[in-house]
Amino acid sequence: MKVSRRIVLHFPKQLVDQPIIYALVNNYNLVFNILKASVTPGEEGLLVFELTGKKSDYEAGIDYLKSLGVKIEPLSRSVKRNDLKCTHCGVCVTVCPTGALSVDRKTMIVEFDSAKCTACELCVKACPPRAMEVHF
Ligand code: SF4
Ligand code: SF4
Repeated sequence: MKVSRRIVLHFPKQLVDQPIIYALVNNYNLVFNILKASVTPGEEGLLVFELTGKKSDYEAGIDYLKSLGVKIEPLSRSVKRNDLKCTHCGVCVTVCPTGALSVDRKTMIVEFDSAKCTACELCVKACPPRAMEVHF
């Protein structure tokens, strides 16, 4: 089974210069997509990325990171609407796959039900005034 997770890594300073990502790719067959990196030589490093691969490889890769002393946290991410920017144009309603965005046919107001939102971000790219925002 394949898994894909977004995680945050905190590196102790002695690991900042080590080829850890290289090892994840070569030894554990994992594919990664870096979302944010902040590594200052001599200080703790921070890396936010999406890691994808077979479940057993993913778990082995995570165990490898933990054995090195890397602190791992799941990335919590959500999409919210900035109501000050929304013009209720309806563009986002056509791309939302979950029904989290809908139009009230009486008022023609676009409503956002955050409980249905899976944070897929399709509306973030589609919204003309950038009213849909990603929060970490
Ligand atoms: S696309 Fe943006 S501006 Fe238009 S209704 Fe959706 S959130 Fe509002
Ligand atoms: S992030 Fe995805 S699921 Fe959430 S409102 Fe936007 S399009 Fe819908």
